[in-house]
This record gives sequence, structure tokens and C-alpha cells, in this order.
Amino acid sequence: MDVIAPLKFPCIESGQPIVIAGPCSAETRQQVIDTAKGLADSGIKIFRAGIWKPRTKPGGFEGIGTDGLEWLKEVKNTTGMLIATEVATRNHVEEALAAGVDILWIGARTSANPFATQEIADAIARCGRTDVTVLVKNPINPDIELWVGALERLYNAGIHNLGAIHRGFSTYGKHLYRNMPQWRIPIELRLRFPSMTIICDPSHIGGKRELIAPLSQQAMDMGFNGLIIESHCSPDDAWSDASQQITPEILNFILNTLVIRDTSTTTENLTLLRQQIDRIDNELLEILSRRMAVSRDIGRYKKEHRMTVVQPGRYNDIIHSRLEVAKKMGIGEDFMKVILLAIHDESVRQQIEIVQDRIK
Ligand code: PEP
Ligand code: MN
Repeated sequence: MDVIAPLKFPCIESGQPIVIAGPCSAETRQQVIDTAKGLADSGIKIFRAGIWKPRTKPGGFEGIGTDGLEWLKEVKNTTGMLIATEVATRNHVEEALAAGVDILWIGARTSANPFATQEIADAIARCGRTDVTVLVKNPINPDIELWVGALERLYNAGIHNLGAIHRGFSTYGKHLYRNMPQWRIPIELRLRFPSMTIICDPSHIGGKRELIAPLSQQAMDMGFNGLIIESHCSPDDAWSDASQQITPEILNFILNTLVIRDTSTTTENLTLLRQQIDRIDNELLEILSRRMAVSRDIGRYKKEHRMTVVQPGRYNDIIHSRLEVAKKMGIGEDFMKVILLAIHDESVRQQIEIVQDRIK
């Protein structure tokens, strides 16, 4: 897959976050129109609404279906907003494109299924609409290859206006978040596709209204290119995801309080600080290499005296004493454990090479 270029929407000023907002589900014409009006008044340019809803269990509200597309068309015609909806099957794609939907997104349950993403990619190509914008939510399980695989299936079908949405990952049990953010996964996606548009979905990560503001700020601080936020004219009455939807007015308030950081420029001061980091990293490498040299000496001693390489008592002492010192220095315990364990593993590996005569 080549470089995925950033998405450009003429209605959104460059450098400003792409904000997509609207209800979890289209429910009634009135609810769609009222919500859309409130959002348009708040300056939102892209309206979202689920027409077909993938629900965890049967028996819930599974989306209003085709009728809702007429309401989305009305939103587009009366407010000028672009319209976005979720597609999971070939039929959804055909109907959404026929209704003039501007942005399709692939939901988290669908992006986890290669058959379904391939079907969607093929359907878009068959409709002759490879120019359409498609956003791919992360799969519900924390598997970056599956996420990239879904993007690749679309790309290979000729659909190059692509972006990704980070909506968190499923876990077992009760947690602060509805879906754990596991930020290192979208960060890795950013490293693989530096210019691709990556949007954060604080509504589905948090699952609660009060988490939308802090998660949105965190996303901006981390350099996400936009937000997709669920908004409903009467959130408590929503037919799906009521606890995470906010009114257009609250959304407007949150967006106005967000600090938007500059992702592009590097100032002189930052360059100097980065040079310091480069020097410190070199020192770290030198210290690690000296430590490994001592470790190999210990390996030679153990070999001569027919001692075992791994001595658990010593290992526990090391961890315990270093964690105490690290704590006083304000270094996180989990982080320090990972580092100490990795250093110890590498020492053991090098000592075993010596004991087994693979290195002298
Ligand atoms: C949604 O956006 O309403 C939705 C169903 O999201 P997800 O696929 O992230 O669960
Ligand atoms: Mn939802």
C-alpha cells in the first residue's frame, strides 16, 4: 500500500480538527432534523447517524433502515452538511451511495471481519464510486494488522480517500472506559501511515458523557486529526448509546474549550530539547553496553564454577531495590518493571551464549 494522503474537506479549514457529530442512530425524522439543526448552528460541517446498527444482542433497536436515508438527504439539502453513515454489507453500500452519503464508515465489528470488509470494498468499486471517503474504525480486538488489513482491502479496490477511527478495544469486565483506548495501537498506526487522517471517537471509548471532554483533549494533545462525537437533541431519550450522547450545545461548549495544538511546526527550542534527548539516549546505550559487558564477565565466572545462569534470589533483590530507587525518582513502577525485566532477559541470553560456548 502506498502513502495514504490526508483527507481534505473544503468545508474544514486546514489545520483545524475534522469534527463529525450526530446521533448514534437515526430514530425519527424529527430527532434527525432537530439534532442536525443544533449541530449546524454550532458550526459542525459533517453529520453522522447510524442507519443500520450492529447490536451486540438481538432484540434491541437495530436501526431504522432505509427510511432514515431520506432524513439524511434532507439534512444535507437543508444544512449543507456532509453526511456520514456506517455500512456493513453490499446492500448498505449500494443504498447509502444511491442516497448521496458522502462518507461511509466501517464499524468495529465489521472491520474485524475480512469477508465483510472485502465485500464492502468490492461493492464500492462495483458502484463506480472509488472516490468516496471511507473511514475504518479499529476492530474490536486490539489487532493492528486486522485494522491495516481492512484499510488495504479498500486501498487495493482503488479507494484511496481513506482515514481511520480509533474507538477503543473490547475487554472483559468493568472498567473506567467502555472500550479501552490502548493508545499505543493508534500511535503505531500513525508511525506506519504518517500522513493518514486518524480520528478519535471519545464517545465509544468512554461510554459516558463526562469522559468526552477529557478524551477529546487527550486526542488533540496526541495529534489526532479529528473527532467523531455522538450528539442527540435529547440524549436521555436516545434509542441506543444514551449514556454517551450529548446535546449539540454541550458539544459546542466542549469544542470551544479544546486546546488545539500545532502538529506541524518544529520550533528552535524544540530542536534543542530533541538534541538533548539524542545525547541522553546515546549515554543510555553506552551504559547498557557497559552493563552487558559486566554481565558477560559474570557469565564466564558462572561457567568456570559450573553455576546456573538464572539465580532467582538475586533477580528478586535487583527488582526490589531498583524499584525503590525509581519510585523516589518519580519513575512509574510498571514502566520500570518492564525495563528491568528486559535488561535481565538480555543478560541471561548473553550469559547462556557464553555458558554454551557460542560466544567467548
Ligand atoms: C457507532 O459509531 O455508532 C458504532 C456502532 O460504533 P462502533 O463500531 O465503534 O461500535
Ligand atoms: Mn453508538
